[in-house]
Amino acid sequence: VPLVIAIDGPSGSGKSSASRGVAERLGLGFLDTGSMYRAVTWAALDRRIPLDDVEVVAELARTAVIEVSTDPRQFWITIDGTEVTAPIREPGISAVVSKVATNLAVREALIARQRQIITETGGIVAEGRDLTTVVVPDAPVRVLLVADPDARVRRRFSELEGKADEAAVTDQVVRRDAEDSTVAAFTEAADGVTVIDSTELDLSQVIDTIVELATA
Ligand code: C5P
Repeated sequence: VPLVIAIDGPSGSGKSSASRGVAERLGLGFLDTGSMYRAVTWAALDRRIPLDDVEVVAELARTAVIEVSTDPRQFWITIDGTEVTAPIREPGISAVVSKVATNLAVREALIARQRQIITETGGIVAEGRDLTTVVVPDAPVRVLLVADPDARVRRRFSELEGKADEAAVTDQVVRRDAEDSTVAAFTEAADGVTVIDSTELDLSQVIDTIVELATA
């Protein structure tokens, strides 16, 4: 049976870097599910679809063809043939992606696509907000990665390489926490999920901890 490792956590918890590292270490695939919500958001804005038009946005999520890299060393994502790897990271997308992610019909469509990708890829680390609870609750290794808000703001800020001001980043992290908390209970671990607090750990320590869990 191919190994599936499910990792959830809020923005800035370091789950993306940790998941990539674990995948590389164990020779597994990697799936960033947040990128799929971002891609649908990008396409909706591109097509001038109002994000609160839940029916039309849901139809977009159901019909759009999303291809996403499962290679932990090289990330890319396309939606209906357009590569959106860079634009989905723009602040304009981060600011409104929760609106699309709270659309339950969008979630249904993307979760189906995620399960398909996870099944097709022989062994994978899949990360997001609802992997441990909804997408693959049967995964043999499930981790909730948490960190203090201050630590998460610092990480997001350094990811942005100084191209943002710290107060604005704080606002974004705090606001997205609040908006996302209506979607998935990712701040509380479900039964059988291992909580790792990365506040005082560096990336390699987080990777080591998850690799140990997976190979125990
Ligand atoms: O992980 P990232 O910050 O790129 O995710 C972008 C957004 O996508 C999150 O803020 C959340 O609203 C949504 N998301 C989700 N469920 C997932 C992954 C991401 O709702 N599994």
